[in-house]
Amino acid sequence: MRLFLILLILFLSVQSQAQSHAEQVKTIQDDPRVKAAFDHVDKNRDAILHEWIAITEINAPSKQEQERAKFIESLLRKHKLEIRYDSAGNLIATRKGTSGGPVTVFDAHMDTVFQPGLKIKATVRDGRVYAPGVGDDTRNIEALLATIRALDAAKIKTKGDLVFLFTTDEEAGMTGAKQYTKDNKGKVDYYVALDGGYEGFTYAGIGINWYRHHFIGPGGHTRSRTPPYSATLPLARAIARIYELKVPTSPSSNLNIGMLGGSEVPNAKAADAWFTVDLRSTSNDVIADLEKKIAMILDEEAKRAGLTVKTDVISASPAAILPGNRESDLVKIAEAVHRAMGFDPPIGNAGSNNSSAALLQGINSISTGAGPCNDSHALTENCEIDPLYKGIKKLLLLEVALAGLAP
Ligand SMILES: [Zn+2]
Repeated sequence: MRLFLILLILFLSVQSQAQSHAEQVKTIQDDPRVKAAFDHVDKNRDAILHEWIAITEINAPSKQEQERAKFIESLLRKHKLEIRYDSAGNLIATRKGTSGGPVTVFDAHMDTVFQPGLKIKATVRDGRVYAPGVGDDTRNIEALLATIRALDAAKIKTKGDLVFLFTTDEEAGMTGAKQYTKDNKGKVDYYVALDGGYEGFTYAGIGINWYRHHFIGPGGHTRSRTPPYSATLPLARAIARIYELKVPTSPSSNLNIGMLGGSEVPNAKAADAWFTVDLRSTSNDVIADLEKKIAMILDEEAKRAGLTVKTDVISASPAAILPGNRESDLVKIAEAVHRAMGFDPPIGNAGSNNSSAALLQGINSISTGAGPCNDSHALTENCEIDPLYKGIKKLLLLEVALAGLAP
């Protein structure tokens, strides 16, 4: 009986906590200033679209973000913000809070994956805007700018500082976010990476490791004595065995062998036969375990064919899991904001963006986005226009709910 009572009290307190996050968000959403800010977004739809296109048309390959940064800076200068750059070229604009609230960072990355010199011209048709980079991540840059204007127009003050962080080099290694989160570890309470996403958000990052495995042998003519074999033999056997490995679905994990190569001509045994492995998991233990099993297979098959094995790591980034993040106020408030905006949010743990950099520094972090887009990283990239305005309102509500609405 006593146990039952304790469980009941626990259940009720969890319930009321959940309610309190929802109520807290609802109160903010109903505040006349927030309503005025939402109206401001609706009244400025055309201006938002034009500015979004203007930023998109400044191509900004990774590590060449300066021109785009200068343009964004010129837009930020129209507002009461503390503006600076850091050593990684990140553009940082702080909207000071009145005091006593959490420091909340909103990150959108400035860089694109497109080659330097590419001329970008956006076109609008059928309710969509088409241009390389329009979604990833320019939609979120524009969404942040639109929220700053709406917050100012509605005279909204937050308790905590809102930091608008326009990062460099997300696509090529997240060096911008890594630098910022390292420099500001302990000074940031919440870190929201805006990159992809619309209806939901993620609270952890998936680990991604890429390897190139080589079998090395003497090679030789087709008619040379066998063995030694072509290095393709242990490769084929190893690939077949690697695909027999059990890859867990929970925690979410993936394994793919996407590339392979051998001899350059049909009439030679391969002296170097290689293949790539793309190994992903939300658990670093799973990655380590599969890595070990793959290494064992490679060794066995190399020995069996009388050859040797060599492994290059093309790139490695660990899974970013912060204990307690799923139960943090950040995640609870984010969930309440999404529900308040009419979304039934998918909440995932397999993000792959700047949020990982924050989580790996021990900063509570999520990632989400301001609108639905297609074909990211392709020249045909495009976004729906209409949902962006709702996405901007969602972001604004998230900003105010996290940093706290000041009287
Ligand atoms: Zn991106």
